[in-house]
Amino acid sequence: MSYKLFIPGPIAVSEKTLRAMAQPMIGHRSTDFVALYQAIQPELQALFGTRDPVYLSTSSAWGSMEGAVRNVVRRKVLNCMNGAFSDKWLDVATRCGRPAQGLRFEWGQPVDPEALRKELSTGSYDAVTVIHNETSCGCMSDLAAVMAVIREFPEVISIVDTVSSFSAMPIPKDQLGIDVMITGSQKALALPPGLSLLSVSKRALERAAQVEGRGYYFDFLEFQKNHEASMTPSTPVIPLFYALRSKLEDIRAEGTAARYARHARLNKAVRDWGLGHGFALFPREGFGSVSLNCFANTLNIDLPAFNKTLKAEHHLVIDGGYGKLKGKTFRISNMGDETDQTIAELLRSLDAALAKTPKLSAPGK
Ligand SMILES: *Cc1c(COP(=O)(O)O)cnc(C)c1O
Repeated sequence: MSYKLFIPGPIAVSEKTLRAMAQPMIGHRSTDFVALYQAIQPELQALFGTRDPVYLSTSSAWGSMEGAVRNVVRRKVLNCMNGAFSDKWLDVATRCGRPAQGLRFEWGQPVDPEALRKELSTGSYDAVTVIHNETSCGCMSDLAAVMAVIREFPEVISIVDTVSSFSAMPIPKDQLGIDVMITGSQKALALPPGLSLLSVSKRALERAAQVEGRGYYFDFLEFQKNHEASMTPSTPVIPLFYALRSKLEDIRAEGTAARYARHARLNKAVRDWGLGHGFALFPREGFGSVSLNCFANTLNIDLPAFNKTLKAEHHLVIDGGYGKLKGKTFRISNMGDETDQTIAELLRSLDAALAKTPKLSAPGK
């Protein structure tokens, strides 16, 4: 039995993409590989909104997220924290032996540009990490406002995680002045997991050249040197390159404007469903994600029972809350290839399953 995933990653992968992966291997130093790399590069740059190269890292997003810290932090990094992934980045920076400090917000609250300005004004930092779309709690920060603040500090290299928002809405890297922009394959791009994509500015490369202890696998200078030959430093996950080429075809056929509009429309359809049933959005109003909805379980339904019914009777899976939000929230993805029709079907299934789901009595009653 297979289930359709509406969790916020990994998400459902189309038959076309799966078929694209089932191709004979090519050598990663061959002219065929060079042609493949060169074919996808301009379209990736357009999607990133950048003239900088887009490196392809055979790892999950965390590989590049850890790598970015190893490459650009010389003095100290400020980690903006407002959910599980951004909280983890402080831990990762510390484990890499980099001096790091957290700028903490409650889960579900966006990164506050004023608080960021105040902290960066101390002059202690030469790098900052920000997660645009905190998937754990469905909270999307105002990246334009955050980047406007970071640009006031020319010595600070910005590392921005767009793992769950990339290609769901425009994120123009160069216009925003993002130095290192990172995404992963298994979220809005609707590819299987295993590939991370990152674009790195000249400034960030110059910084990397001055930093010790970059390691090898995620060394930006290795990526750049190989990029100049249209290759990757080590043997990459070639089936996912085929999948990516196929996905870029899909995006070209749909058009990015239509793709962004589709994500906004489907996101609102799911949001309206939840609000209409009396659930509340978990993140602060106006900062809900465009690629998923994280609802507070205000009706106190039995979420494991809800998901069990969805799985058994409707062959689909949603998320029952991340980490400390388990049971208190639930998340529904609208990333990837969803259409008006598939979301309408999803909402009918949610309705049917909800009608069968018991409410939990409040503790003490
Ligand atoms: C999923 C996710 C990650 C981690 O990605 P992996 O591919 O598991 O390494 C990081 N940041 C955000 C915002 C995510 O949604």
